[in-house]
Parts: sequence; C-alpha cells; structure tokens
Amino acid sequence: MLSNKKYIFFDLDDTLFDFNLSSKFSLELVFKEHILPLDLKEYGFKKFFEVYKKINSDLWNKYRENKVSKEFLEVHRFSDTLNKLEIYEDDFFSSNLNSIYLDILSKQRNTVKNAGGIIEYLYRKYPLGIITNGFDSVQRKKLNSCMLTDYFKHIVTSEKAGALKPSRQIFDYAISLTGLNRSEIVFVGDEFDVDIKGANESGITGIWLNTGNKQTDSHLKYIEIKDLSDLRKFF
Ligand SMILES: [Mg+2]
Repeated sequence: MLSNKKYIFFDLDDTLFDFNLSSKFSLELVFKEHILPLDLKEYGFKKFFEVYKKINSDLWNKYRENKVSKEFLEVHRFSDTLNKLEIYEDDFFSSNLNSIYLDILSKQRNTVKNAGGIIEYLYRKYPLGIITNGFDSVQRKKLNSCMLTDYFKHIVTSEKAGALKPSRQIFDYAISLTGLNRSEIVFVGDEFDVDIKGANESGITGIWLNTGNKQTDSHLKYIEIKDLSDLRKFF
C-alpha cells in the first residue's frame, strides 16, 4: 500500500512539535508576568487556562470557517478570556499579550516523542514536507527552535496557502509543489477530523498519529500509528 510513495508530508502541531506542552508553558509565563499582577481574585493559572482553552478553540473553529480574521482571533482569545475573568483591559493590551505569548511559544523546543529520530531516518529516504494550520512566521520559528527546518523541502502553512486543513485547497497547493501524483504522497497528522479527513478528501493516504487512543467511527481508509517510530515499519 505504501511501496509506491515518494513524498511524506507531516502536520506540525502535536505531530512533531509538542504544542500542548509548549502552549501551556508559554501561557503560564504570560499569566504570571502580565495577568496575575492585574488582579488578586481567587483564581490561579488553572482557571485562566481552562477559560482560554475553550475560547481559543471556539475562535479557531470560527477562523477555520472564515467567520473571523487572524487578527480578531489573536486579540479576542485574550480579551474574551480576561473579560470572562472580569478583568477589563483594552484590545491593545490583549494584542500585546498575544505577541508576547507567540514570541515565547515559538522559542520552545519540545518535540513529540521520537520526532527527531524518525525525521532523521525518513529524511535519508524521502523528500519531506509540512502542511500546517498556522501562521507562517510562528510555525517557521517553531521548526527553527526544534532544529527541524532543514529536513523539510516544503513548508506549507495555511496562511501561505490561503486555506486551512481540512479543506482540499491547502492539500492541493502542497501537492502541486511536489510535482508528483497525489497517489504518491502520504500525510501524517494527529487530528482525525482535520488531518486525516482532509488528506482523504484530497486523495492522499492519511496516517493518523493517535497517541491518545482516541476512537473514531469513520469509514475512511487510513493507517493508524500510536507512536511516530511506528513509521519505520512502513518506510
Ligand atoms: Mg496537529
């Protein structure tokens, strides 16, 4: 099934870059240095993080559906969180928090388990690429911080492609860069609805990195792995 493959694309966040760990760490620094001094109410980072996570995820869904802009998302994930916690600052403040957060986040170098080893291994055998929903400068800085940039021939961000996964447009854009047939391409990602559905729609073989043992009742054709090192069995 995979013997005809000539190119491997990867998702970035939580497939190679440990986004969950890094974003929590970065937000905690932002919280301690810039939010805690504003307010002495009885809540800590745990509460802030819980509220932020929900708001950020809702805004990303809206951004994916083209209902809000990147700029709106970046300000409102902080301003809405602060408002919910009854801290009232202007948008300029939230916009600054966002810049500080992204700056810290993009300097993190936490990779997903076995990411470095598998990339080093596959790089010797195949051209590799990235297809990521994210902002160009931030995603590139993350790759640089993890010292992974040089392994990838093409780095496709949603910002650059003008479309977000799971839409077919971003995959088609990535395929066009390779000069290959879509049946010769594989895509590895951790989010079933975004990565695997999107790859499938575009005629690319999807490999689902399912580290959390999530369930799906999907009838799509895909390959499932529990750890990135499982890729050695296929390539
Ligand atoms: Mg991901």
